[in-house]
Amino acid sequence: MRKYVVMGVQGSGKGTQSQLLCDDLDLVHISVGDIFRWHVQRHTKLGAQVRRIMNAGELVGDDMVETVVRDRLDQHDWNFGFVIDGFPRNGRQAEFFMESYDIDGVIHLELPDDEVRRRVLSRRLCPNCGMDYNLIADRPEVEGRCDICGTELITRADDTPEALAARLRDYHEKTRPVLELFGRKEVVHDVDARPAPDEVQQSIRKALGLPAYAPSA
Ligand code: AMP
Repeated sequence: MRKYVVMGVQGSGKGTQSQLLCDDLDLVHISVGDIFRWHVQRHTKLGAQVRRIMNAGELVGDDMVETVVRDRLDQHDWNFGFVIDGFPRNGRQAEFFMESYDIDGVIHLELPDDEVRRRVLSRRLCPNCGMDYNLIADRPEVEGRCDICGTELITRADDTPEALAARLRDYHEKTRPVLELFGRKEVVHDVDARPAPDEVQQSIRKALGLPAYAPSA
């Protein structure tokens, strides 16, 4: 059983790296942001409660986040373990998490704020299948259309300069202290998030003492 946390500022590749880590290790990827986005897109009651907060780049309340995380982990579909990204984001969430679960490793993806801005403001998303694109490094084959399903790409509502500024501020103020908390109990590995995704994944595998990553051709 392997339980990992991937932390990092927006645009650092948390989602991509968590998914790569899960793929050939049979781990379940849990993204709290994706769960909230799913609710917003489907206009659920929870979605209505978090939509405005998310669009402004602010953090959803801890009680709601803890319920979502607990419900997700209570599904116990993670026989070989899980990778959770986007959580915990502040001291209270970290304490709740550490009381309930033993964590095998924490990856902290490091990216300078300038690079965060560059990446996030060029990010596009397929609202249908969830595929991520980047107009600088990972353009879709047909402009504005998803390569997989052809749906028109959108900009995440919270990928605006204003929302990004709020998220960067929150990250530095609230999320960084989580690393200090984890650092006392768990092993935190700092990983440079600037190289290409495959290279970053290789560093993550090395840091966690896992077999090397073999990208599929
Ligand atoms: P992400 O995809 O991780 O950037 O999350 C998108 C948005 O979902 C964040 O800007 C928050 O509004 C909300 N969110 C995701 N995870 C958390 C969390 N652990 N605590 C509070 N809000 C969260």
